[in-house]
Amino acid sequence: MELTRLLAELIATPSVNPMGQSVAEGAFYESRLTDYLEQYFRALNLTVMRQPIAPHRDNLLARFDPPSVDRKNIPLLLIDVHQDTVPVEGMRINPFAAEIDGTKMFGRGACDVKGGMAAILHTVRQLVQSNEKCVPTIVIACTVNEENGFSGAYELTKLWENCAVADFIGKKPDACIVTEPTRLRVIRRHKGVVRWRCHTRGIAAHSSQTRDAEHAIYRMGHVVGLLEHYASEILPQLDGDALCGAATLSVGTISGGVSVNTIPDRCSIEIDRRILPSETPDTAYEHAIQHMGQLKTMGIELEHESPMLRAPGLCDSRNGALADCLLKTIRDTGQPSGTEGAAYCTNAGAIAASGVPVVVFGPGSIEQAHTEDEWIDTREVQLAADILRKFVTSAWTL
Ligand SMILES: [Zn+2]
Repeated sequence: MELTRLLAELIATPSVNPMGQSVAEGAFYESRLTDYLEQYFRALNLTVMRQPIAPHRDNLLARFDPPSVDRKNIPLLLIDVHQDTVPVEGMRINPFAAEIDGTKMFGRGACDVKGGMAAILHTVRQLVQSNEKCVPTIVIACTVNEENGFSGAYELTKLWENCAVADFIGKKPDACIVTEPTRLRVIRRHKGVVRWRCHTRGIAAHSSQTRDAEHAIYRMGHVVGLLEHYASEILPQLDGDALCGAATLSVGTISGGVSVNTIPDRCSIEIDRRILPSETPDTAYEHAIQHMGQLKTMGIELEHESPMLRAPGLCDSRNGALADCLLKTIRDTGQPSGTEGAAYCTNAGAIAASGVPVVVFGPGSIEQAHTEDEWIDTREVQLAADILRKFVTSAWTL
């Protein structure tokens, strides 16, 4: 199957992440794409495993063993690619039509990350069909729920952390490439994220009777003001990261009150703090809470929930050799490349936290991802496939 057709089929198979909203299962989740991938890998006679993560949401793993080699004595390369896409509301193109204009293919997920997925699928089919020398065993992990919590990647790491279920993978991977749109650059470091909810309380009363009322929204107003100051004045004083930039914080949602004529007794916000590779989600969370403690002098008590998401960043302490080898392969195929940092977060943080050297690499730019006319250049997808094939057949050794 031609690579462009393969990519079109992936785009035409919706795998929308509901992003925490309650939805009818038919229109959402990764299950249709999971079925497609399972069929694809089984047709190539690869060993396939489903790892259930949540209802209608399975990680799909496929293992390619190089012909006639003792599996125990060769390195294991993990290639991770997420199955889910962000929602389609607000798109000004048909999200699943995979329309083509010149070398551009449009659709939800075209760039993030079905272009990268097509490159991987194409590469592994070529390996099977050509019987080519391949250095590592390759496990392709098509993970769920990257866009809203990385739960697929965290569960994936249990396959080698828990020996009882390690049979499929066999051992901890020696290296991992996480596929994301990096413009064929190699990402060695990126930020992580911690998110939590915080609440103020008040006492409900008729809005005409304000004398003894305690107003949860007014209290939250002070909280939001202090967080804005914390984000603009305090966080920039922390040592930033040369590749990833400064730590950031944003209040993403606010809700409170029951009716316009009732003094609100509760107000809630959701906070998103992007952490540096050198920070942990917990230290960043504690730092912010400590700073907010000064509101007590104004009589404002804050309730901070435990984080609903903790995702570490990607550090470059283990991935130097892997990055060098991938960079050399990219340059050998005639492409300019380099090492970069990223402000966004990927599955790489979760996988690296389990002790595996990880880099992020793939076709397309993050600027094309999640957009109203998401697209990818099919020539770049072909280049990514060429690079991956060269990497596994001739470049990568331990
Ligand atoms: Zn992505």
